[in-house]
Amino acid sequence: MNVRVGMGFDVHRLVEGRDLWLGGVQIPYKLGLLGHSDADVLIHALCDALLGAANLRDIGFHFPDTNPKYKGIDSRLLLAEVIKLVKQKGYEFGNADITVCAEQPKINPHIPAMQAELARCLSCDEDCVSIKATTTEKLGYTGRGEGIAAYATVLIYKK
Ligand code: MG
Repeated sequence: MNVRVGMGFDVHRLVEGRDLWLGGVQIPYKLGLLGHSDADVLIHALCDALLGAANLRDIGFHFPDTNPKYKGIDSRLLLAEVIKLVKQKGYEFGNADITVCAEQPKINPHIPAMQAELARCLSCDEDCVSIKATTTEKLGYTGRGEGIAAYATVLIYKK
C-alpha cells in the first residue's frame, strides 16, 4: 500500500460584518473571517493538506482569489473539488487531524457538528476527522483575536 501524508496551514483575519464559517459550520460570533471565499480557514488548511499529500500544489494555485468565480464561494465546494483531484490521482482519503487556533469564540462546543459536516463532505466515517481547538495563550495575532489559524495533517493511500 502506498501511504502519503500532507500538511496544510492557513490564517484569515477576523473582521466585522462577515459570517464566521469553520469546518463548514456557521458559528455565532460578533466577527467573521475575511477572505475572497467564505474564508473557512479550517477547510482551507484541510484542502492544502490533501493537495500536499498528493503533490498537487496548493489551494491558491487551483482556486486563485483573482477569479470572480470563487468570490464568496462555500469552501465545502472547494473541498469537494480537491477530493476529486486527489482521487483522480488514484488516492483514497485516510484520516485528517486538524488544529484550530483561536482565542475567541470557543470552538469546542462546535466540534461535533464540524466533524459530522466534514465527514459528509469527505464521504468518510466521523472517526476519520479529528478536530482540536487551542488558544495561543493570548500571544500573537491569534491571541489578540485578530485572526484564526488552522493546521491540518492528512493521510491518503493508494491500494
Ligand atoms: Mg484561506
